[in-house]
Amino acid sequence: PFIQYGAKTKKSYELMKEAEDYLPGGVTANIKHFAPYPIVMKKADGAWIEDVDGNQYVDYLMAYGSLALGHGHEDIKTAIQEQMIQDGTFLFGTPHELETTFAKKIQSYYPSMEKLRFTNSGTEATLLAIRLATAFTGKKKIAKFEGHYHGGYNDVLYSINPSLDEAGEEESPEAVPESSGLDLYSDERPLMLPFNNIEATERLIGKNASELGAVIIEPVQGGFIPAKQQFMTRLREITKKHGIILIFDEVKTGFRSALGGGQEIYHIKPDITTLGKVIGGGFPIGVVGGREEILTISKPNATGDVFNVGQGKKSSAKEILFHSGTYNGHPTILATGLATIERLEQDFDQTIAYTNTLKAEIEKLGNKANIPLKTLGLGTIFSIVCTRDNKIRHYRDLQNTNLSLRKELDFHLLNEGIYTKPMNRYSISTTHGDKEMEATLSAYDKVLNNRLGG
Ligand code: PMP
Repeated sequence: PFIQYGAKTKKSYELMKEAEDYLPGGVTANIKHFAPYPIVMKKADGAWIEDVDGNQYVDYLMAYGSLALGHGHEDIKTAIQEQMIQDGTFLFGTPHELETTFAKKIQSYYPSMEKLRFTNSGTEATLLAIRLATAFTGKKKIAKFEGHYHGGYNDVLYSINPSLDEAGEEESPEAVPESSGLDLYSDERPLMLPFNNIEATERLIGKNASELGAVIIEPVQGGFIPAKQQFMTRLREITKKHGIILIFDEVKTGFRSALGGGQEIYHIKPDITTLGKVIGGGFPIGVVGGREEILTISKPNATGDVFNVGQGKKSSAKEILFHSGTYNGHPTILATGLATIERLEQDFDQTIAYTNTLKAEIEKLGNKANIPLKTLGLGTIFSIVCTRDNKIRHYRDLQNTNLSLRKELDFHLLNEGIYTKPMNRYSISTTHGDKEMEATLSAYDKVLNNRLGG
């Protein structure tokens, strides 16, 4: 498929060559890159995306799940226009009414977020969550799960996808740095825990409890590997018992695994939750919220101080956790986010139905063609896993599936007009319908029966 890919994406190749003269690797985010070179996109409409060579694709990347309503949705365009016309500005830099309106809307789906703050990305949200948790408990060590991503910064950029020979034993995984430079700033690595392995997790947390301020977790790893219920229930119990803050990073699962995210599915009340992606409607946002007594430490004090004034400067004042950002609570983005949630309230069930049918039909086609292929996911995200094994518990199991078959499948599908970044997930939008289903299944049928392995 790689030869055909080259033939179909000539202009992408040219543009990426030129981009490399200015941008390292030709990209503005490492994740946009894939070998041999990524496709340069130009236009989009609903569930469809078009590249610079004029090839059209059914888009299943949906900007890494951010676009719950597909591309260019009218509700979002209207929301942008109305906000700008009504308010006469793009940005106040002051409090405004939509902040409370949007906070209420989010809280109606995430009641565990008793108080919340807006940020500009998921990364900033988890960063603030960790600062809140460590400040609140006075314990500076954090724990995360192997294979879970929480943003690209020093505290958490460990063991997202380490090679199995570096990763250590499943029962006590190594924290493998995923970037150069991490250890130059701090030699503190997070405690690494094995997802869906409650015995080892419980033992590791117990051993480190006196130092651990927070455990951060994606309730559904990568949005597609579900936690076992017993694992989640027990994780909640032990973190509570040891006075460790449990952070649910729902940047990916929020308004996707279910409208109320992983916490709705597992009936778990985390101490802190982070959201992002979907709730911006395609624009940058993050939210961090949680127990009132924790979030309240970021409250400016009665004298109006916003920075920490507790360290000997004014002995009577209490400590303040600093949180700020010029663009926090951006009015246009809160308007697009609100429009997204309101549309999802109408169309979420239909999006789930599309996802479930697509998963079932893909598996049927795989079976018919006798190709080891499964779908794995919850809500409106899933991934394709090339294996006959029914028990994918975590990233180690994924590493043991047929990754080269998956890659070959993805490139064939690209050639047939089905887009996701190779090896990535499928995120469904409200605009995926009959036409997209038909195009996708006929591409799968063709690839699974005629192309694969050929
Ligand atoms: N947490 C999770 C679970 C994510 O999936 C992501 C983004 N893929 C982030 C945090 C970081 O969010 P952002 O890219 O908006 O900074």
